Amino acid sequence: MSRTFDIGIDDLKAVRTHAGTESASAAGTPNGKSFFIETFGCQMNSHDAEKVAGVFLSRGYRPAQSIAEADVLLYNTCSIREKAAQKVFSRLGAWRGMADGKIIGVIGCLAQQEGEEIFERAPWVSLVCGSASYRKLPELIAELESGGRRVTGLDLDTDETFETEITRRDNPLRAYITIIEGCNYACSYCVVPHTRGPERSRSSDAVLAEAKRLAGAGYTEIQLLGQTVNSYSDPSPRNLAFANLLREVAAIDGIRRVRFTTSHPNDFSREIVEAIDATPVLCDHIHLPVQSGSTRILKAMRRTYTREQYLEKMSWIRAARRPISVTTDVIVGFPGETESDFEQTLALLEEVGYDGVFSFTYSPRPNTDAKSMPDAIPEEEKARRLAVLQDGQRAIQLARNAKLVGSQFEVMVDTHHAARSQWAGRTTQNLIVNFSSPHPSLLGEYVQARITRAAPYSLVGEDVG
Ligand code: SAM
Ligand code: SF4
Repeated sequence: MSRTFDIGIDDLKAVRTHAGTESASAAGTPNGKSFFIETFGCQMNSHDAEKVAGVFLSRGYRPAQSIAEADVLLYNTCSIREKAAQKVFSRLGAWRGMADGKIIGVIGCLAQQEGEEIFERAPWVSLVCGSASYRKLPELIAELESGGRRVTGLDLDTDETFETEITRRDNPLRAYITIIEGCNYACSYCVVPHTRGPERSRSSDAVLAEAKRLAGAGYTEIQLLGQTVNSYSDPSPRNLAFANLLREVAAIDGIRRVRFTTSHPNDFSREIVEAIDATPVLCDHIHLPVQSGSTRILKAMRRTYTREQYLEKMSWIRAARRPISVTTDVIVGFPGETESDFEQTLALLEEVGYDGVFSFTYSPRPNTDAKSMPDAIPEEEKARRLAVLQDGQRAIQLARNAKLVGSQFEVMVDTHHAARSQWAGRTTQNLIVNFSSPHPSLLGEYVQARITRAAPYSLVGEDVG
């Protein structure tokens, strides 16, 4: 989205600019300087960038229209897989030529992982800050403003969350709220606990207040975020359970859809399904990463559940009153994964019938136990398994989507393909529907669409009002 919208706290004056969106001229006193954030990685990273942008806005910085124009240039990094991490230094290399007179910073997971080593490899960088230290950004920026040459925020040992006075909203239709930061699991392949620190939940009051402000600003869809969103543990005296937090966010006036991601299977409870059943505003979609269909590999991954336990939780979801779509993440080629383990993953995909799978080849990461596990799978074999899995899943999705032809869904319109004069949006189940409509402006609207054609990754429909 090219437009940005800044939503501040209570006393910030908002100006309505578009049905369903808000812009706030809420920034601090202008200081004549501008900032630009380039973000790579997951949804949480994108939303972190919205909050970091808010920190700059509240200090009087304005958003720069381009990298060249910016006084402060930040690279918000990812290190979940090696490829993402490699990109960072080549990108920083490209920024070297324009370092003069600019403050260049590296934030996010790779900043945490590489720490001060970044200054050695890219001496033109002057800020390195991991997400667990974002609350210290105002101090770090102040230090740079008063002539500091190199500042770092690399403390992982924290029980605090990142609260912002202003959060820039880059998406005018869907608003994101982080409810839990960090992760207390220790999956043997994963850098997140080492880059985002221990699990910290925000108080339910803070989450609900933010959701109300967003509804007041015209947002109708809210997505609650966390690496393990359903491990949420309210630190306030209310001690609101996750399923009840979902119900309370859904009850806010003006909110029509609430989503949450990512759920960890270990903390997935029947209460979540009951909350969805009882509350149509809670979307009929759960992202429940399984990672592998083999209990032996799940154990080596330290996922804390077996194949059978995962399938039992799936049975709760399948017993819901409304059909709930389920998507997942899978890693192929984990060290020691045999052909038989891999076949168990393929069989699990058939058995569950996912509506979407994010699949990855295993990538060895620093500071993780899996990195030194024996029986690494050759890259070509990992790639072969990934292709087999993706082909199989493509067929599963096509068959599932084909059954929807003739059905009618409510679609929240989020995209206009001008060249094809088509609109696109998502159903409550998070399925993408493309459709044509004579209406000139549908962005943010909820329309009824009848499905006329199915493809593996989307549906085609017609606007029926
Ligand atoms: N917290 C989520 C969970 O427990 O499933 C996942 C968060 S992670 C940012 C997103 C996905 O990246 C994971 O579900 C996993 O499939 C994948 N991933 C993480 N580490 C990986 C690695 N070392 N190699 C390949 N894929 C990885
Ligand atoms: Fe990584 Fe596992 Fe935590 Fe997910 S639950 S963020 S995969 S350590």
